[in-house]
Parts: sequence; structure tokens; C-alpha cells
Amino acid sequence: MTQDDERRTRLDAVVAQARREQAQREAGYRHKALALFPWVCGRCARTFDRSNRRELTVHHRDHNHDNNPEDGSNWELLCRWCHDNEHQRLVEQPTSNRDDQAEVATHRPFSGLDQVLRAIKPDSEKPPE
Ligand SMILES: [Zn+2]
Ligand SMILES: [Zn+2]
Repeated sequence: MTQDDERRTRLDAVVAQARREQAQREAGYRHKALALFPWVCGRCARTFDRSNRRELTVHHRDHNHDNNPEDGSNWELLCRWCHDNEHQRLVEQPTSNRDDQAEVATHRPFSGLDQVLRAIKPDSEKPPE
């Protein structure tokens, strides 16, 4: 085993451990939130039952997943789609200069370049010899 392999293995273990803890934490607050609130999406008002509740997710109002007060004041139940939208909206929301934001969103000179290159050189996926 090389040093690099060892480092990678250790890193994998750390990542796996963090994932486990994250999953446990998530299961914890999800369980509490589902016990606390009616199973209704806070945005589109879609209702859920046992058969589809896995599509109902817990959103953190302050976006801090470690902030889980027992009274549920930081949680909001959202369906997967509204949850995605919620985060999308916050990401795209202009923070300072609206014109800057518009520029970033529409002006993407390199989008589609991959496809173009791939079309010209169909062998580009092959590893170099
Ligand atoms: Zn929804
Ligand atoms: Zn969220």
C-alpha cells in the first residue's frame, strides 16, 4: 500500500463517518419534524401520507442544518420540488447589484463548448496514449 493509498483510505473513513453522522442527525430531526407538523408542503400545500412521505423533506429556515430546536421553530416541511425551488431561489437572489447578477446568469461564453469539442473529436473520451 502506498502512502497515497493510505491517505485516501483514511480520508474515505472520515468521509464515511461524517456521512453516517449527518444521516443520523437528519433522521433525528426529520422524525421529530414529521411528528410535530401536519404532513403538508409549506409551499404548494400538497398533502402526504405514509405511502409518499419520503417526498416530504425538512427545510431549515436559517439554512443551518445543525440548528434544530426541539420546538421545530427552524423547520419547515416542504415537498422535494418546493424544497429544490426554495434553495434555487435563494441562490439566484441578487445580493447587491442586480445588473451583475443578470450578466452572470445570461452570459456564459463556455457553455456548450464540451459538446462542440466532442462533436469535432469523437475520440476525445479515449485516454491519451
Ligand atoms: Zn411543495
Ligand atoms: Zn432547505
